[in-house]
Amino acid sequence: MIEICPLCSGRIVRKKVAYNLFGERVGIFPADVCQKCGEQFFSREISLAIEKIVSDKGLWELKSKTKVSMIGNSFAIRLNKRISNYLDLKNGELVALYPEGKNKIVIDRIREEQLRDESVEPR
Ligand SMILES: [Zn+2]
Repeated sequence: MIEICPLCSGRIVRKKVAYNLFGERVGIFPADVCQKCGEQFFSREISLAIEKIVSDKGLWELKSKTKVSMIGNSFAIRLNKRISNYLDLKNGELVALYPEGKNKIVIDRIREEQLRDESVEPR
């Protein structure tokens, strides 16, 4: 166990932390956590265990590259089969799209109860 944070020289304490990837809970693992900057350090065994769970869940494969393309006057972004299967997306399903800063686009699913409350912006 390390005692001093290599990033900020803060004090390190052993804690159990939740590890999530793409919003999915991978598990709760022991980590050395810096009390000053919050950086988490996992031991080699724990890192390998996390990698195995992530790989068994097929989470790594969900991250992929896709190109923005033009369709008429609009831009289109294709979602591959892996992510659409994982999300169980339906043809014609409505989603909400918005930027989060200048480098991130968020696509939120719209649940049916929300549809009843809000009107959807026509194109
Ligand atoms: Zn630190």
